[in-house]
Amino acid sequence: MRFEDQRFLMIEKHLVPRGISNVELLASFAKVPRERFVDDKWKEYSYQDHPLQIECNQTTSQPFIIAYMMQLLDIKADDCILEIGTGSGYQTALLAELCKEVYTVERYGELSMQAREILRDLDYKNIFYKVGDGTKGWENSLPVKNDFDKIIVSAGSPNIPDSLIKQLKVGGKLVIPIGDTLSQRIILLTKDETENHIEELVPCTFVPLIGQEAWKE
Ligand code: SAH
Repeated sequence: MRFEDQRFLMIEKHLVPRGISNVELLASFAKVPRERFVDDKWKEYSYQDHPLQIECNQTTSQPFIIAYMMQLLDIKADDCILEIGTGSGYQTALLAELCKEVYTVERYGELSMQAREILRDLDYKNIFYKVGDGTKGWENSLPVKNDFDKIIVSAGSPNIPDSLIKQLKVGGKLVIPIGDTLSQRIILLTKDETENHIEELVPCTFVPLIGQEAWKE
C-alpha cells in the first residue's frame, strides 16, 4: 500500500477512535510523511502506532501520543512554540504545519543536523534549531526569544523544569511527561497570572530528559 494511503489508515484507526478530533491537527498528520524521518529499515512500520528507533539510541514517539499532546496544547495559527527534544524532526514538522514559529532544542548535534536537513528538504521555513540542554529552554539563543505561547517536551522528566515555566507566557500551556525513567504521565500545565494549573493525564513511556533541570547525565 502507498505511504499516503497508510497515513490515512493510521489516522482512521489510531487517532480518530482515540479522541483526536481537532481537524487542523488531523490534517497535519495527513500531510507530514513520517517515513521520511525514520531509518530505511523501519520505513515499512512508519504508520503503525509505535515508537521507532532513531540514531543516538533515541526513539521517535508513537503517533497517538504526539497527537494527544499536541491536541492538549490547543495550537493557534499565530502561536510560537518551544519544542524540547527535536529527535527525528517528525513532531517538529507537525507543529510547523499548525503554528507561526517552532523553536526546537535537541541535545545531540547529529540528530539536530539530520532533522534540519529533512525539514529543509520538505520546505519548512518557520523552524529555528538549537543544539543544547533544553531543560534551560531557549536561553541565550538566537533569534532572541524570551517567552512562548506553548511548550512541548518530548522526553520524560522527574519534574517540570523551572526555566521552562519561566519561558511560558501567561495563559500559555506546557505539556511534559513526568515520572520515573520507566514510566511517566502526561502533565498539562496552564500558566495563570497568580498560579499554575496542573492536570495529570494518561500514562506513557518516553526516553529520559537529560539536563541540568531534569535527569543528570
Ligand atoms: N518528538 C521527537 C521525540 C524524540 S525522543 C520525535 O518524534 O522524533 C526525545 C528526544 O529528546 C531525544 O532525541 C533526546 O536526545 C532529546 N533530549 C533528551 N534530553 C534533552 C535535553 N535536555 N534537551 C534537548 N533534547 C533532549
